[in-house]
Amino acid sequence: SEEQTIALVTGANKGIGYEIAAGLGALGWRVGVGARDDQRREAAVAKLRAGGADAFGVPLDVTSDESVRAAAAFLGDREGLDVLVNNAGITGGQPQDPIGADLDAVRRAVETNVIGVIRVTNAMLPLLRQSTSPRIVNMSSRVGSLTLQSGGAETGPISVAYAPSKSFLNAVTIQYAKQLAGTNILINAGCPGFTATDLNGFRGVRTPEQGAAIAIRLATLPGDGPTGGFFDDEGVIPW
Ligand code: NDP
Repeated sequence: SEEQTIALVTGANKGIGYEIAAGLGALGWRVGVGARDDQRREAAVAKLRAGGADAFGVPLDVTSDESVRAAAAFLGDREGLDVLVNNAGITGGQPQDPIGADLDAVRRAVETNVIGVIRVTNAMLPLLRQSTSPRIVNMSSRVGSLTLQSGGAETGPISVAYAPSKSFLNAVTIQYAKQLAGTNILINAGCPGFTATDLNGFRGVRTPEQGAAIAIRLATLPGDGPTGGFFDDEGVIPW
């Protein structure tokens, strides 16, 4: 129907992204499953639909201009877009310690986790601007908190690729919030908590469904905000 909210979740074929798609589907939303691999995408769409979600596939590699442009054209022609969840993310590979770092791991992490988000967001903004309640959710991580890192808090393994890519993503989120101030577009960063997925060899302690909760909350914010913030299930995370 015309009233149905349309969402796109990047990297929705597995892990937290899959559960974000399932959760938004359970709200009655129509959910685009953004994924780069045809088989993994169609398997996820079939599973979501079997679970009652109104899911559809969106071919999407966030590192490709051409792929992202095609995804935006597809959504613009056929669906529209109200909510974008930038969930796709990678560690970049090992090693990640500063002195021993593989520079390509740094490049890969930034390319997907930061530049990919900017690329997708800018491609989708013309569609989001046509929505009555547009929301953008960037899946970040506490490991990107400079405050927590510099304060000696337990924020995961030493990293010059993945963790700083999330700090960069947080900075980018703030900049978008500044430029979008005064519009009806709310943009926030969220942390799912340490969640058992492929990203960490399933060492996380939360379920993907638990990990998805913050993104669902930020995707369904009321019109008065917040925007330009960083949150997990417990509340505000310091930048
Ligand atoms: P997974 O590795 O399980 O899933 C990552 C998803 O991103 C996959 O669907 C993957 O697709 C997709 N993806 C990767 N690169 C691209 C690309 N270039 N284009 C499109 N899709 C891509 O990880 P999680 O579910 O754990 O992670 C989801 C988000 O949550 C990430 O941003 C991560 O950094 C963040 N996060 C996760 C935490 C955790 O403990 N798990 C903690 C904090 C944050 P494919 O199957 O094709 O590889």
